[in-house]
Amino acid sequence: MKSIDTLLSRLRQRGLRITPQRRVILEFLVNEESHPTAEQVYQRVSSLMPDISRTTVYNTLRELSDLGELAPVQDLSQDGRRYDTSTEPHHHLYCVACHTIIDIHRDFEGMSLSPEEASGYQILSHQATFYGICPDCQSPASVATQAGWTVDPDALNSET
Ligand SMILES: [Zn+2]
Ligand SMILES: [Zn+2]
Repeated sequence: MKSIDTLLSRLRQRGLRITPQRRVILEFLVNEESHPTAEQVYQRVSSLMPDISRTTVYNTLRELSDLGELAPVQDLSQDGRRYDTSTEPHHHLYCVACHTIIDIHRDFEGMSLSPEEASGYQILSHQATFYGICPDCQSPASVATQAGWTVDPDALNSET
């Protein structure tokens, strides 16, 4: 997402009324890179504006998605849809233990389908996800194991 002023004027142009509640949500989102779930946005925003309703937050996120200002992240975990404040095409690095998502902005050459592989589909976009264990989660390795991934602690230690 760009600056808050750019965003506000763009939303006004498209007929979205900027209420104080929406403004707080937008101000939170422009600085947010963690790909939060709607519930996480609600928790954080309600600490700034205690009387904001969950419905307002969820509806606003849906409206922003419909307007293309937020991008849904493909389901990476069980904790519900996550919202991406970066709507440019990009890839993801995902921690399987703590569900942190980091944006990767790079073109991967050769990432395309042959006509046979595309099976007649008109391809619109593609997105790669790299699965791993972030530095914080590498010790103890048991956190990753809890997430259902088999981790050899010796393999992790030998890298350091
Ligand atoms: Zn992690
Ligand atoms: Zn992203």
